[in-house]
Amino acid sequence: MKKIGVVGGGHVGATTAQRLAEKELCEEVVLIDILEGVPMGKALDQWQSAPVELFDTRITGANDYAAAEGAEMFIVTAGKPRTPGMSRDDLVSANVNIVKSVSEQIKKVAPDSIVIVVSNPLDVMCYVAKEVTGFPKERVVGMAGILDTARFRAFLADAADVSVEDIQAMVLGGHGDSMVPLISYTNVSGIPITKFVGAEDLEAIVKRTRGGGGEIVKLLGTGSAYYAPSAGAVQMADAIIKNKKRILPCSSWLEGEYGMKDLFVGVPCKLGENGVEKIIEVDLSTDEQAALVKSGEAVKEVMDIVNL
Ligand code: NAD
Repeated sequence: MKKIGVVGGGHVGATTAQRLAEKELCEEVVLIDILEGVPMGKALDQWQSAPVELFDTRITGANDYAAAEGAEMFIVTAGKPRTPGMSRDDLVSANVNIVKSVSEQIKKVAPDSIVIVVSNPLDVMCYVAKEVTGFPKERVVGMAGILDTARFRAFLADAADVSVEDIQAMVLGGHGDSMVPLISYTNVSGIPITKFVGAEDLEAIVKRTRGGGGEIVKLLGTGSAYYAPSAGAVQMADAIIKNKKRILPCSSWLEGEYGMKDLFVGVPCKLGENGVEKIIEVDLSTDEQAALVKSGEAVKEVMDIVNL
């Protein structure tokens, strides 16, 4: 890939740019922010790590989207993060206008690009990006499920005393407190997780996963997580750029899948060169299906207050 635009040069955006470059996933990363000087300064600093980290990806910074003209992919991280006591949904009024203006610019300079949204409230910001760009559903996708699943996997690996690499899991639903970790699809190298972790511990891990973002917000005091979120966004970029056809939990536009339509919610997606190439519908227990629909309803409630 030649060019990726990363919009928002804050914690998530700058870390994403650095990870993209260190993996040499494209020839140029353009870091865009409204702050004067900041994206240029960060990009210069990051580019100067190239001779040490050994990458040839060029990182540039800009305030103007002209620098990202023709980019094949955008990763949107612009917007306010949470502060202690806030839910992701509390960010909606501040971030709708930001993601709206970002999407208008993307549409202008790169009408054929694939957009990975990270800004919160995630599922609703995906909706804003899709509506404003007018891009087909395959080309607008949100990062949240990989992060929620990574948190779940990390906690499980710890409890089971096994490598994180061997934990397979999937957290579906909206990126909020109603997310749905699928215990029945969670395993250690194919062996059911229940062989390794008892019911009580599993329940505690599900609870900690649901509050995983909030736990970090509270500890940081200002701002929210960015190392794991940027890793999640870059894993999606990697799957798309290399046409890997990976099955990853991503926020995707539903048109009847899982009994829901006209909203973004986290579901298992096949990611390849065309973006979201397929939504995989897995069998869910009655409780899981009900929890997923409830999570979708929570997303809809916030969507309903958005005026585009
Ligand atoms: P941050 O405050 O460090 O950075 C946000 C950046 O966006 C700032 O530099 C700001 O100047 C910039 N910005 C604001 N308006 C802009 C615009 N119109 N155009 C371009 N840039 C603009 O915040 P952060 O920690 O990087 O988080 C960014 C967003 O990502 C937040 O909304 C946060 O809630 C979200 N987030 C999502 C997930 C997820 O799982 N989806 C995880 C972590 C953070």
